[in-house]
Amino acid sequence: MSRARVLVLNSALGPLDYRVPHGMKVEPGSIVTVPLGPRQLTGVVWEADRLPSDAEVGDNRLRNLLAVADVPPLRAPLRRLIEWTADYYLAPPAAVVRMALSSTAIESSRSVVEYRATDRLPDRLTSQRAQALERIGERQGLVRELADIAGVSDAVIRGLVKVGAIEPVVVDIDGLYPTPDPAHAPPPLTGEQSAAAEQLVNDVKARTFRPTLLDGVTGSGKTEVYFEAVAEAIRQGWQALVLLPEIALTEPFLKRFTDRFGCEPIAWHSGLRVTQRRRAWRAIASGEARVTVGARSALFLPYADLALIVVDEAHETSFKQEDGVHYHARDVAVMRAKFESCPIILASATPAIETRQQVEQGNYFEVKLPQRFGNATMPSIETIDLIAEPPPRGRWLASRLVAAIEENLVKGEQSLLFLNRRGYAPLTLCRTCGHRFQCPNCTAWMVEHRLTRRLACHHCGHVEPVPRLCPECHNEDTLVACGPGVERIADEVAALWPEARTALVTSDTIWSPVKAAEFVASMEAGAIDIVVGTQLVTKGYHFPNLTLVGVVDADLGLEGGDLRASERTFQQIRQVSGRAGRGEKPGRVFIQTHSPGAQVMQALITGDADAFYAAEVEARREAGAPPFGRYAAIIVSSEEKAAAHDIAHSIGRAAPEVEGMHVYGPAPAPLAMLRGKHRFRLLVHARRTLDVQDVIRTWLAKLTWPAKVRVSIDVDPYNF
Ligand code: ADP
Ligand code: ZN
Repeated sequence: MSRARVLVLNSALGPLDYRVPHGMKVEPGSIVTVPLGPRQLTGVVWEADRLPSDAEVGDNRLRNLLAVADVPPLRAPLRRLIEWTADYYLAPPAAVVRMALSSTAIESSRSVVEYRATDRLPDRLTSQRAQALERIGERQGLVRELADIAGVSDAVIRGLVKVGAIEPVVVDIDGLYPTPDPAHAPPPLTGEQSAAAEQLVNDVKARTFRPTLLDGVTGSGKTEVYFEAVAEAIRQGWQALVLLPEIALTEPFLKRFTDRFGCEPIAWHSGLRVTQRRRAWRAIASGEARVTVGARSALFLPYADLALIVVDEAHETSFKQEDGVHYHARDVAVMRAKFESCPIILASATPAIETRQQVEQGNYFEVKLPQRFGNATMPSIETIDLIAEPPPRGRWLASRLVAAIEENLVKGEQSLLFLNRRGYAPLTLCRTCGHRFQCPNCTAWMVEHRLTRRLACHHCGHVEPVPRLCPECHNEDTLVACGPGVERIADEVAALWPEARTALVTSDTIWSPVKAAEFVASMEAGAIDIVVGTQLVTKGYHFPNLTLVGVVDADLGLEGGDLRASERTFQQIRQVSGRAGRGEKPGRVFIQTHSPGAQVMQALITGDADAFYAAEVEARREAGAPPFGRYAAIIVSSEEKAAAHDIAHSIGRAAPEVEGMHVYGPAPAPLAMLRGKHRFRLLVHARRTLDVQDVIRTWLAKLTWPAKVRVSIDVDPYNF
């Protein structure tokens, strides 16, 4: 009799053994349906055949596997990646496997029925039906998806189908993706770019594990250069994966890709429809998908023949996943490349200290692009001391910055004001009684949004209307907004230059790839004079006529004072500065700060990244901080504060004495309450060579806690 050991999804249990019925063929990686109690679940065969029959569960008590999916088994490199991720990040393997499987990918039908609106209006056009049809517009999807888009029930959509206002469309699942053409439109590269590209192309040809930092200043043509490596993978008939940090970046990227290769790559992100997801998954697994562009979750897809990984903007903190399995996509990408034996390119103008250190130690190679492409020069950067030159009362832009924008308007050039804070004001309080609006679910102030006339929590999404009266003292017209968010800066701009055409770019206004594309098109058409934006505008964009950047509050990121505060500030301001003067016209950058003498501000002005990094590295070395030491956070959360508190303390009391390791806390976590859960944190600090995961595993294995308490572990945490 043969048995299979299966990792079952949606199950907290470890691998379970099943009998392989006669005539069924499975191998490690096969995707199967298994019985569990009364349910039927999806799982992945982890081991087959070679299992001893005297295993825990006797042969006669085994249940049969029910079915094998008609898709290729997950290959060994992906299975190793899943094991490594579960091990390193102390996550349940089933939770990691779930990221590799797309729930509907394994259904066997080759086509699916979607729906779209026709131009026939129903005889009885209720307001609900009218609303549904208007919201659906040109879009297409499953009944459930259209109902979601339209904000109506499934029944309304089905009713519209019945009367012919919405019609079914059969969509094929397989064989739909064109192959990008490596010879479509390669740009002539500069000498520096060619040398870099040649190196990367050779790495692809060699097809061995080789991590390379592509370290090029903003506007140097990093994308063009790594596109050559992607072209080589396509030429060889292999697959390539490009990881991008933000979905907002996808649209301009797809356009550039299409310009270079003649068709779109496969995009993978959380915004895909069910059918698109299923199609992409299958094409990736069969090898039909030659180039995939995706957010971090694209890392766990079942590539048939992966020969190159590119992590673009590799320094981005959004590669760190903060819920579910806590993993860092940049680091997991390197492991995937290792298991696939393929090269990986980390592209960045401001590499993370950890990445630089890997180069320093000879673990990663480095390819540099120190010059901007064409005649573009690096922008000139100056600081504005907010203490010496304060903006007028109630305003946030200093007069020197205002004058520079004025000049730019006259010249017909574009300007960008950057403030990394959504909404109108970060804090609203009552001028009479001092009442402040706090989120009921989180330890956080509610942020006033004037666009939507609401107070919103940026942590849990809770919103409430801005009240007319103070809820505390019941006075009228007594609430004041404190401090600026981007909306307030946009107001100031409108007041200063009523005729200027302005755009507000934040996740509240640019919430879809389509919106991002519209913004890019308006910028390119010269229909915008002044952009006010959050970090959404700091990356990737290339607007030749944008020649001025104003950083409204450069001190914002330094406030928390955490480990990476200076590094993040440096990266962010350098990235946003990198938007200025990318074409023929030179760029100017103004940085408003209260501490122009701070080392990070000085480094930004002189552009001396090496000196900045050297000092940061020294500080980290002294503190034993990453990459010289390691951290792991144990977060204990519960709706009941006492329960979280008690379990956190019992975990703390059970902490083992280990040489080279120190446990801080428990203490209230930085967000002591989040989404209605109270959170306590233990912070483990260890020397680099210590196997912290092993220590934590044994430590926690001895303990139990009630179901109302959740213990999650964040290895290499980011925010502390
Ligand atoms: P980076 O990613 O390093 O900031 P990009 O790859 O975005 O730089 O390049 C900046 C701009 O210069 C883009 O518009 C790009 O198309 C253009 N560019 C770079 N190299 C070349 C080249 N060799 N030929 C034509 N255009 C180029
Ligand atoms: Zn909240």
